[in-house]
Formats: sequence, structure tokens, C-alpha cells
Amino acid sequence: MTTQTIHTAATHGLPVATEGAVLHAARDLRIEHKPLAALGPNDVLVQMRSGGICGSDMHYYAEGRNGTNELRQPTVLGHEGAGVVLATGADTSIAAGTAVVIEPALPCRTCPTCLSGRYNLCPAGTCFGSPPTDGLFARHVVVPEAALHELPASIPAEIGAAIEPLAVAVWAVERAQVQAGHRVLVTGAGPIGLLVAQVAAAKGASEIVVTDVNDDRLAVAARFGATRTVNTAATALDLQDMDRLIECSGNTRALSDGIQTLAPAARATVVGQARPTVDGIPLGFLQRYEIDLVTAFRYAHAFPRAIELASSGVVDLRSIITSTFPLEDAAAALTAPVSDPTNLKVLITY
Ligand SMILES: [Zn+2]
Ligand SMILES: [Zn+2]
Repeated sequence: MTTQTIHTAATHGLPVATEGAVLHAARDLRIEHKPLAALGPNDVLVQMRSGGICGSDMHYYAEGRNGTNELRQPTVLGHEGAGVVLATGADTSIAAGTAVVIEPALPCRTCPTCLSGRYNLCPAGTCFGSPPTDGLFARHVVVPEAALHELPASIPAEIGAAIEPLAVAVWAVERAQVQAGHRVLVTGAGPIGLLVAQVAAAKGASEIVVTDVNDDRLAVAARFGATRTVNTAATALDLQDMDRLIECSGNTRALSDGIQTLAPAARATVVGQARPTVDGIPLGFLQRYEIDLVTAFRYAHAFPRAIELASSGVVDLRSIITSTFPLEDAAAALTAPVSDPTNLKVLITY
């Protein structure tokens, strides 16, 4: 069966193998050929144009693990990717030539959590580029049509991978319930924090304070969305009565200090990757003022809004893209944000 499918594909001139960035162990990334999965009736073959390096990719590369998930077999990295449809399965409706961004979550779509619409929380779900599931840093990938979102002409596939972190920001602001007139504190000016500031501005937040310990990043925040920036390595946070905290740094101190700036009945949202357990959260303060502490994990139904915000120019995707590397230099791309901290989003191009 498989042989027959591959043979059919071959007779149509489609690739049966592709080149990808395969992580074998920590700091052992190889650009090698891998066979492409057969194109099922609901699948689409995408020729990749951009891939985005995320913190999780950097953890897998540097340590062979990210949080509790460990690399146990060679895996193609990458969950941020965009490209152009090259071939389509028999039961799909998307046309070849369409520019698309891939939503990397692979939920089961049948459990009660998925059926309730909260597919990002699917207990059985996985994600492209989360070992052992192969990811998107490859010249071609076969993905279910359901994972695709069409890109308008205003968002070239060459930068389309950056829609994924924007979807994270859209969902973070959604979970934070930011409303017009809100005073919002965003802690962490990495790609996510910078996009969160822009999405919060689009929601009509009247004041957006962004904190970080890096002045270059804060300078970007000041150009895009922030009404004020604070370098917390040099200056104490002298805020009060903030309506929303959106924590994007993963730093416990930023979370606990940020909570202390909140007004009664405010809301704090944890977006940056949290440690398994955390001391120092001012629980008594949260209770005394009925401040809601919520979390955000990836996104659900956020890609269409992210595409709309980028397409209309309300959010500038290029504000976070600082460098690009060809696939052959994927290892350099995976360390670029560490070797040069002025880097924000690093893209792989094909
Ligand atoms: Zn990401
Ligand atoms: Zn599910």
C-alpha cells in the first residue's frame, strides 16, 4: 500500500524524500534526508518557506529536553512554519499554490476537551516538533489540511512562520481579558511579550508598561505598543493599580513583583513557561484583593485573528524578526538568540 502510494507520488513528480534539520542528541543537529510520509486523502504537501526558532527549540538543541519532554529518538525540530501548498490529497479543498501557515497542534479531536473547543489542552495531543513527533524545519512537510491557515498576499510565506508566536500573543491577551482603557503590565520583552504589547494596544489598552532586563529589547517595545518601558535590572517597579499583568518572561520574580502592582479584582496571566512548582507567589495578596491568577497554554482558535492583525498592519510581524538563516545553518540559528541577545525572532529560510 505504502509502496504504491509512493510510486504514484513519484509518477506525479512529487518528492518522496526531503531534507530536514534532525536533532539526534543535545548539540547534535544534522541536515539529512528523510522519507516523506505518504499523502493521505486529507493531507497536504507543503513546500516550506519560513521556520521560526522558539525557546523550546533552543532547549531541545542545547539540552536534549524541554521541560519534562525528553528527546529519545532523532526528531526534526520546529513548530513555527509557513510555506506554499505543493500537492493535495483526494479529499482536500485547498488549491496548490496557496500560501499557508501551519498550526502545529495535533489534538485528538475526539476527546471531551477537544469537543468542547479547548483543543490546546487535549491530554492526548502532540505538536509538530515536539519529540518524537517530527517538526517543520524541513524543505517539505506532509500535514493534515485541518492544520493549515491561508495567508493573504499581505503576509508573504517567507515571514509567515511568525504568525505562530502572534497566535500565542492573541490567546494570551484573550485569556487576560484585556479591555479598552485597561492599564496593562507586560513582563518580558522577548518575541511573545513584544507581540502581546501590540495585541493589547489593538484591544484599546490605555497604558502598556513593558519590563525586561535588556535595553535593546525595551527599545523595540517602545517603538511597538508600549507606552512606557522599565529595565527592572536597573529600576524598581513603582507601579500600582494595574488592571492586568501578562507574564511573558518565565521569571518567578517578575510574576510575584508584577502581581504586587495589581488593583483589587485585577487579573494576572502566566504565559512564559512556568516551572513545575513555584515558591514566592503572594497567594495571600491575591486572595485579599480577589485577583484572578490564570494561565495560557499555546492557543485555541487564535490563528485567524493573528492573520487579521498582521494583514491589516495593526501588528508588525517584522518588528520581532531580527535575522534569517538558511536551513543548512539551522544549528547556528538555534544558538543565535543566545550568542547575540539583541536577537528576537530568528527565522530559517529555504
Ligand atoms: Zn513557538
Ligand atoms: Zn483531544
